[in-house]
Amino acid sequence: MKSVKRNVLLNPGPATTTDTVKFAQVVPDICPREEEFAGLMKGLRADLLKVVHAPADQYTSVLFCGSGTINIDICINSLIPEGKKILVVNNGAYNSRAVEVCEMYHIPCIDLKFSVFEQPKLDLVEKALQDNPDIAVVYCCHHETGTGVLNPIREIGALAHKYDAIFISDTTSSLGMIPLDVVKDNVDFCMASAQKGLMAMSGLSFIIGRTDIIKASKNYPTRSYYCNLYLQYEYFEKTGEMHFTPPVQTIYATIQALKEYFAEGEEAKFARHHAVYEAIRKGVENLGLQTVIDRKIESGLVVSVKYPDSPNWDFKKVHDYCYERGFTIYPGKISTTNTFRLCALGAINVNDIKDFFVVLKEALQHYNIIV
Ligand SMILES: *Cc1c(COP(=O)(O)O)cnc(C)c1O
Repeated sequence: MKSVKRNVLLNPGPATTTDTVKFAQVVPDICPREEEFAGLMKGLRADLLKVVHAPADQYTSVLFCGSGTINIDICINSLIPEGKKILVVNNGAYNSRAVEVCEMYHIPCIDLKFSVFEQPKLDLVEKALQDNPDIAVVYCCHHETGTGVLNPIREIGALAHKYDAIFISDTTSSLGMIPLDVVKDNVDFCMASAQKGLMAMSGLSFIIGRTDIIKASKNYPTRSYYCNLYLQYEYFEKTGEMHFTPPVQTIYATIQALKEYFAEGEEAKFARHHAVYEAIRKGVENLGLQTVIDRKIESGLVVSVKYPDSPNWDFKKVHDYCYERGFTIYPGKISTTNTFRLCALGAINVNDIKDFFVVLKEALQHYNIIV
């Protein structure tokens, strides 16, 4: 096997992958309409259910070709019945993306806004549900990647169910990293792309959700042709295939990544990401830099760091210095505070973070940002 230069990606996905996942893509050419390929997707769909402990008699997984945002689009355009509303519990950029999707499709949406620095307030979520009996869907991001805040989805899901609504959670930046049990966590639909928690490649996204609700959605208003959940589900059920061309090589990579996921184990993987996060926190503190989110509500996967208070600070210069040495840092996503992000996704470990902070310190000294 050839070796490929290893980069440590501290951006919030795509994440650093193993060489075995990279090389899993190098396979003989195959037409994805072959039975052999449908068989691979069948196994992949079953394994995805296992990642979130979804019982196969109640949940199904549906694959799509696209980046993670395609899942947000599909869930929202496909799962809102005629004359009903969606409640978006919104404390950040990714929840705001769901609101934007609603606007694009002219779907009635209650945008329940909270501070991006805090978890949503459950009493206000309940009040919105009480005041609006026409809410059919409650939506909230599990891990708000823009800040690193972890949202209380189990509680939000319970409230949704108490008021006869379904609960959709955007779990793109937590699935495969923070243990999720869709039944216990009251999640009817969750989603991710293969490039984040599963440490595979970009181009494959998937929705895991309740089969009975997908079947019922056959009679809901159709708002998209390419991105309709029921149509894709039905096609998989009938043929075992994606309706349109799948991302063939990414599927091979994801199958390998899932093997590695189950070999590492849910708890061990969670512990590894957490150790990487702790190392990031420590490195930030050692450099005297400030963070913006209280650790008690942090996911343990993303650290938002304030720009250093120095006239010499220049994100791009520091980024480039690190990038040339194999480390990628990423801009923040908070409109009111200038931040950059350091993330604990991917096939990386505590030693990578130690190496990174040697380089980051050099960069900060090189540009006279710190002495
Ligand atoms: C990464 C991410 C997405 C998808 O973003 P893409 O750029 O489409 O891959 C959606 N939601 C959350 C919470 C994410 O972190």
